[in-house]
Amino acid sequence: MSMVRVRDLVVRYGSATALDGVSLTVGSGEMVALVGPNGAGKSTLVNALSGVVRPASGTVRVAGRLAHVPEGRRLFPDLTVEDNLRLGGWRSRSRDPAEVYELLPALVRLRSRRAGSLSGGEQQMVAVGRALMARPEVIAVDELSLGLAPMVVAGLARHLAALNAGRGTAVLLIEQNARLAFRLCSRAYVLEAGRVVAEGPCAELARSP
Ligand code: ADP
Ligand code: ADP
Repeated sequence: MSMVRVRDLVVRYGSATALDGVSLTVGSGEMVALVGPNGAGKSTLVNALSGVVRPASGTVRVAGRLAHVPEGRRLFPDLTVEDNLRLGGWRSRSRDPAEVYELLPALVRLRSRRAGSLSGGEQQMVAVGRALMARPEVIAVDELSLGLAPMVVAGLARHLAALNAGRGTAVLLIEQNARLAFRLCSRAYVLEAGRVVAEGPCAELARSP
């Protein structure tokens, strides 16, 4: 079942076309990468999924709640990890982080730490946890790898994959680093200048030049 279905999406900013007929699906329990250089239209696509940006034409359908983990983490640095998590639950009115601790056990020992005192990878995990507080069916993660060591990214990706398998949460990873995204995901879309220029299983895309 498709949790995200985008068809022939066109988005314009004034006279500039940011997305020019993009189609994409993410299935339940699927982990899909959206890769492409700066300015390709990745943020615009995510903004269209969350309803922040209105299509000029085409359709966008998200089955269930979408949670977006923005680039740069954007935690409240002076609040504890647990308080940051609780703030993520305001919309779903689920203030109890117990379930998130089950999904991301590494957060338990960090719960009383000031978010600003954590490493980049730890902060990124808190950001994912905060998004999970909304109990999303779909989670879109911006630049998971930004500024992080490959081993840290691999650890985060394992958590996402477990979530994906355990709960059927659909994951869309938005990455500039295509090689990394291909390693983490099963399927990928490559965006360039507002168009999908390649798509398919990551194993195949990783082999193509
Ligand atoms: P990416 O996330 O891949 O870097 P974006 O979706 O941010 O790409 O941008 C796609 C294109 O749309 C770029 O040319 C960018 O300059 C332009 N763009 C993005 N947001 C706006 C905006 N609010 N107003 C005008 N142009 C925008
Ligand atoms: P990203 O690389 O993740 O897309 P950007 O720095 O390009 O991040 O964009 C950050 C914000 O600025 C986004 O909300 C985007 O819509 C907006 N933006 C991007 N390009 C332009 C632009 N050319 N004119 C106006 N706003 C823009």
